[in-house]
Amino acid sequence: MEIKTFITTNLRSNCYILVNRQHAVVIDPGAPDDVLLDFIQASGVVVDAILLTHGHFDHIGGVMALKAQTGAPVYVSKADEDWLLDTTLSRLDRAVEFDRTVTDGDNITCPTMSFKVIGTPGHSEGGLCYLIEDILFSGDTLFYQSIGRTDIPKASSKDLYHSVKKLYRLLGESTVVYPGHGRKTTIGHEKQHNPFVRG
Ligand SMILES: [Zn+2]
Repeated sequence: MEIKTFITTNLRSNCYILVNRQHAVVIDPGAPDDVLLDFIQASGVVVDAILLTHGHFDHIGGVMALKAQTGAPVYVSKADEDWLLDTTLSRLDRAVEFDRTVTDGDNITCPTMSFKVIGTPGHSEGGLCYLIEDILFSGDTLFYQSIGRTDIPKASSKDLYHSVKKLYRLLGESTVVYPGHGRKTTIGHEKQHNPFVRG
């Protein structure tokens, strides 16, 4: 499996495309991105799913353009639906359509990849992480030596703390973490060096 990162929006959100044997999954298309769309077209990969870690605008703004090009189904947490549907929350021009809602413990099976869904509320009510093998896509729950903001509507610092603790408990130290912003890290590194949540 190959992982490519595209940085979108002025908040520098990470959009990831995972490619395995000509099938692909996109995580958090934050804004319409011609480089991503060109890559998909030129490589001829089939996009099987668009996975959203949460509903904030800088992670969902590119969903409709990507869906229009690929027809791929969009997965989001039930608890973050409002952020996609209500443009006063998302601050986007129009609502973002989705196809399936998922929750903690669900599995998402695509032709060449499968994911375990881990519920991590806190930064948003419906925050999710997606685990494939020993790789975690952590959205805005866990960053390199940091955690997501909670000074925003519907966030909870207590919930976020417990969600990060849950990741530490569930995952091995060598699990590689690809966050929603910034550089990648590992669970082992964060347990030792994260100033907000110690392992
Ligand atoms: Zn966010």
